[in-house]
Amino acid sequence: MSPILEARDIHKSYKRDSAPPVEVLRGISLKIAAGEFVAVMGPSGAGKSTLLHILGLIDRPSRGELLLKDEKTHEMDERARAALRNRFLGFVFQAHYLLPEFTALENVAIPLIIGGWEPRKAREKAAQVLERVGLGHRLHHKPSELSGGEQQRVAVARALANDPALLLADEPTGNLDRETGLQLMDLLLELHRERGTTVIMVTHDPLLASKAQRILKLVDGRIEA
Ligand code: ADP
Repeated sequence: MSPILEARDIHKSYKRDSAPPVEVLRGISLKIAAGEFVAVMGPSGAGKSTLLHILGLIDRPSRGELLLKDEKTHEMDERARAALRNRFLGFVFQAHYLLPEFTALENVAIPLIIGGWEPRKAREKAAQVLERVGLGHRLHHKPSELSGGEQQRVAVARALANDPALLLADEPTGNLDRETGLQLMDLLLELHRERGTTVIMVTHDPLLASKAQRILKLVDGRIEA
């Protein structure tokens, strides 16, 4: 079976005014199979977020190839990449980035509506996914009326509402206390099992990483064998 995602010799450099460019990723090749749960670990500054942004088509590599569902994303313009991102990818970050003036339900439904869903259907789907992440009783609460763990559950519901094939999570438990972080991890594992969503999660927490099916260790811009 062909992988859902394949990176071939990805490099990423950042240019600085006078100084020589910094090479953050130095030849990353990897394959992620459909349905895998992969953790990306490594010391701070190793390039984990940079890699996740490139795998999620948020950022482009300086060179190298990235295939998502056999589509050559490195040959696409921004419009085509955005379309692919909207269709296949979901994101959860360390910060929830919920819209403060909208309820949990609206925060999950609005991206669906922007993506072309009929508003009534979008609200139904949003309620259903929020129910699934344990927030059926918090649909009409605004982010400020929710706990940190609940806010992050809304972010997970928003990421999964469109049934993405691949979920990219960058330190999703980073702002949570240990217990709440473990609960969020358990939720991600359950959703992965139930829905067959492929998950790539950046974490620096060995306990969380050990729950993944595979760990990729990033050191100095390379994947350690
Ligand atoms: P990690 O997630 O492993 O902590 P990052 O991918 O965030 O690492 O960053 C890796 C390195 O790339 C760091 O040294 C960081 O300073 C540098 N970096 C990240 N983004 C940029 C940018 N936009 N411009 C310049 N340097 C950057």
